[in-house]
Amino acid sequence: MMTLLIRNARVRDDQELQDIWIEEGFIRKIGTRLSDYADRIIDCEGRVVLPGLVEGHIHPDKAFLEERKPNVSGTLEEAIKNTAELKAEYTYEDVYARSEKVLQWAIAKGTTVMRAHPDVDHIEKLLGVEVLLALKEVYKEKIDLQIVVFPQEGILKSEGTLDRMEQGIRMGAEVVGGCPYNEKTLKDSIRHLEMVFELAEKHDLPLDLHVDFADHTEDPRYMLTDRICDMTMERGMQGRVTLGHVTSLGSLEPEDASTLFTKIAEAGITIMPLPATDVYLNGRNDEKNVRRGMAPVLQMLEHGVNVAFASNNIRNAFTPFGNANLLLIGYLLAETQFMGSAEQQRTVLDMITYNAAKCLGIEETYGIAEGKLADLVVFDSQKLSDVIQDQPIANFVIKAGKVIVEQSMNRAVE
Ligand SMILES: [Zn+2]
Repeated sequence: MMTLLIRNARVRDDQELQDIWIEEGFIRKIGTRLSDYADRIIDCEGRVVLPGLVEGHIHPDKAFLEERKPNVSGTLEEAIKNTAELKAEYTYEDVYARSEKVLQWAIAKGTTVMRAHPDVDHIEKLLGVEVLLALKEVYKEKIDLQIVVFPQEGILKSEGTLDRMEQGIRMGAEVVGGCPYNEKTLKDSIRHLEMVFELAEKHDLPLDLHVDFADHTEDPRYMLTDRICDMTMERGMQGRVTLGHVTSLGSLEPEDASTLFTKIAEAGITIMPLPATDVYLNGRNDEKNVRRGMAPVLQMLEHGVNVAFASNNIRNAFTPFGNANLLLIGYLLAETQFMGSAEQQRTVLDMITYNAAKCLGIEETYGIAEGKLADLVVFDSQKLSDVIQDQPIANFVIKAGKVIVEQSMNRAVE
């Protein structure tokens, strides 16, 4: 039985440095200057220790496609179109290699849990689900992977997709995805929503939808959050629904926004902004004072909404940037959402740890407290409020009590 003692960890900015004693994969004891025996001792020398980062929304199956077909117009439409063309040429080995690279990069940056959205449609079929299920097994000691069946090409528009989603669930996917804006009419978008809610109910699974991804409120296919709140409450799905993007909500009048954000909080829906994609694709038609194109994070937090954020895409037609580093996305979010105070910068960290864990339904075993799973990351920063601006390396990544990543603690210049 392996025991690990982490000494002098900065767990909170307003508290003395802590020691964390780990046995059989769980945190057994936390305190100052613990004297317990351990097989291995790591002295953090005041470095920040966070629970493992949670990548709540990512597409490993379509990562690294940018080189093959760049998005020239920079619009969502061209991103979907280019990716659909490239999907037709996928092989198992190709999808496996690109997806594996995403997992490896994410783990090295401190991510210990990930929710992946492979496309399920008439082109990619179930290839992405199959690859990610294989990777989930291979990497099970390094990262927990949740797989979503994601109908990127729509459900009514893409023949056989609903059946394939159900088949993906039988294979082992554990979350129902959705993309109601990618249907031809509002009626079809609503039907799409009904179908994914029914599928989630039938298999008793959570829902994680791509919705309201526009920078205006004019197209009703991109204004469905209010309706989704109603559907969530009517069907008793509170706490089990996540909405990604929802950038259209940034264009609501303040009073309407306030009413809707209260309702989102009541429905227990998690909001998952995807800053790297949202900022890159939105605001394209603005000739001056270009909008930031994101969901209003601070106002939602003020209304009690559980808000997380995630990477979404790594170097493809939707987002030509990315290295699976949630701290980098956190910097982009903090800058564009005016989250600059020390307290707000710590909130940014909460969003990719505790808030995202709540979204993924793992909060009972997650966190830095006695009895929790020992998924931890040691960052080369001295204060939590500095992590987002330091962009530190992860000196240690610990998964279920085992050190799986170890990177130099030597600073280049003292
Ligand atoms: Zn996405």
